[in-house]
Amino acid sequence: MITCDRCGKPLPAGSSKYLIIIQATADFDGFLGVEDFRYSSDSQLEKLAYELNNERGDKTMKDVFEKKALILCPACKKAFMENPLNQVEKDAYPNGRFLQ
Ligand SMILES: [Zn+2]
Repeated sequence: MITCDRCGKPLPAGSSKYLIIIQATADFDGFLGVEDFRYSSDSQLEKLAYELNNERGDKTMKDVFEKKALILCPACKKAFMENPLNQVEKDAYPNGRFLQ
């Protein structure tokens, strides 16, 4: 039987439940740190290229894009939507952006 991913409450077939999809995408602002590379030695660039080429693919991908899915009961869905970052002050999202 499906259970709530937050509180563990059983969610039998036909009961109210919510699928929460969380997607994190790297935010590229268009800035490339060319200055960081201007004074880099060839050995530093070689080391960087080696590290990028030898990172496990799934780790590199998770740095750019990651998606998770949760199933929540109605009470947990309400609590999550009101305070998704579980902050003490739930109105404390100075940079938060919510889609309507
Ligand atoms: Zn729950």
